[in-house]
Order: sequence, then structure tokens, then C-alpha cells
Amino acid sequence: MLTEVYWVIFVLAAIGSVYFSVRYGWWRPTVSYESPRVLMYHMIRDGIPDAKFNGLRVSPEMFDRQLKYLNEKGWTFHTITELHELAEKGLLAEKSVAITFDDGYEDNFINAFPIIKKYNAKATIYLVVDRHDRDWSGKRKEKNQGAGLLLEPKLSDDQVKEMLASGVIEIGSHTLTHDNLMSLDGQNKRKEIHDSRSKIRSDFDIDCKAFCYPFGLYGMEEVELVKKAGYTTATTVNTGIDHRLTEHPCEISRITISGKDGFYAFYQKMRTGKRGLFK
Ligand SMILES: [Zn+2]
Repeated sequence: MLTEVYWVIFVLAAIGSVYFSVRYGWWRPTVSYESPRVLMYHMIRDGIPDAKFNGLRVSPEMFDRQLKYLNEKGWTFHTITELHELAEKGLLAEKSVAITFDDGYEDNFINAFPIIKKYNAKATIYLVVDRHDRDWSGKRKEKNQGAGLLLEPKLSDDQVKEMLASGVIEIGSHTLTHDNLMSLDGQNKRKEIHDSRSKIRSDFDIDCKAFCYPFGLYGMEEVELVKKAGYTTATTVNTGIDHRLTEHPCEISRITISGKDGFYAFYQKMRTGKRGLFK
């Protein structure tokens, strides 16, 4: 009887350790800190029970804990444009990190901005120019239509201006309408990529050097249009740590920070670029 109990415990422990290893990849080697980390966030707000897209909602408490950790561990924060320019000059220090936010949600101003200032951090926000009253949830997958991103308040121009005035926030473009670029003809692709830059430049009286592909969808045609429009970097949703930032600055990989992750997953992602074996 006793040996059977031991066997059950042994088997359960074995299953548990395999699960933990696959989920968190603790055994993966640390990627050199000479390679900068580019983090992808969307919203900083509590998740909504039973809602879709809770992976995009990182709670303010968790965001605070993550920035506190980076600050204490000696990471240096840069905007994506600073990160790229330093890398080009060969001046990028070890443990450099760029925080990025996609879409332009109002909680970036209400919840994230105070935490960014608290830890002397910086961030780049990729703004959808015509972001109000627009639902892009289903532009990639039809089944996501109406799944709630429409109801999320977006940044006002005044909030954007206040963040720009602080000097710690860079504004990049995430197109005019967050359409799926792969579904558009050449002329409309160009409009989304080129005209969004001109609009951001004139609306906020700034340069706009950073671009982010909606849904991370792009091909060589989009990369060329992005360069031609005058952007110097573009981020994707290819996951992981980018070792060759200067070789392909318009196809930058990012580390996905999910609202579904606990702090241990964040720690692993900073170390290896991924949480576990697959994500
Ligand atoms: Zn987006």
C-alpha cells in the first residue's frame, strides 16, 4: 500500500516538473545582456472577467512591479529610437531595454505614465491616428470582431501632448486606422504607412521615426514602404530578443508581456526572451 502511495507521488511530481519546465523554460540559458530587450505592451489596466484579449491587459500593480525590478537590477530605459541610434553608434550599454505600447489606449496615460515617471523609465507609444470609435478587433481574425477593443478608451491628443512634454515618451505610428496591411492594395498600404507619419508630425509638431505593423503583419513590400516613408525603425510581433537591431531595424522582434503572466514569467522573459518552450 505504502509503495503505491510513493509511486503516485513520484508520478505526480514527474508530471509537475515536466509541466513547469515546458511552461517556464528555466533551463534555457540567459541571452547575453549585450542584446537589448524590446518589450511589447498594450494596456495597463486590470483584466475584465471572461473578456477576450486579457493577455493585452497588464495590471498597474504588475507593471509597477516589473519596472521596479528593472530599475533595481540596473536596466537602462530608452525609447525605441534612442535604442536604435545608440546601437548604430555602437554605444548601446549592457542591460538596455525599450518599453513599447501598441494602439494608444488611454490607460497608457492614466496608469502607465505615472509608473514610468516613478522609475525614471521611458517608453514609445505607437499611436493609431484615427483611433476613436474604431474597432480593429476583427481585422485579422473575423471571430474577434466586436470583442471589446472598441470600448477601450483611447488617448486624447491633449494627453499625448502632455506625455510628449515630459520628455520620457516617444510617439510612433501604428498606421491611420489599424487595418490589416496585407489586405490592402499598394496605394492604401502607402497611405496607412506614409500619411500616418505626416499626420503625427503635424498634429504634435514632432518627428516620427518609429513604426509598428498592425497585428505584426508585414512582408518585404511593407518594409520598403516603411523605409521610404522616413521611419528608421519598425517593430513586429515576432517574439524574442533581437540580436541584430542594426541589420534589420524595420523588422524588430519584441518580448510579449502578457496580462496572463505572473511575475516569474516576466523574469524568465527578460532573461531568455520567452516564457517557456513555446511562448
Ligand atoms: Zn495594434
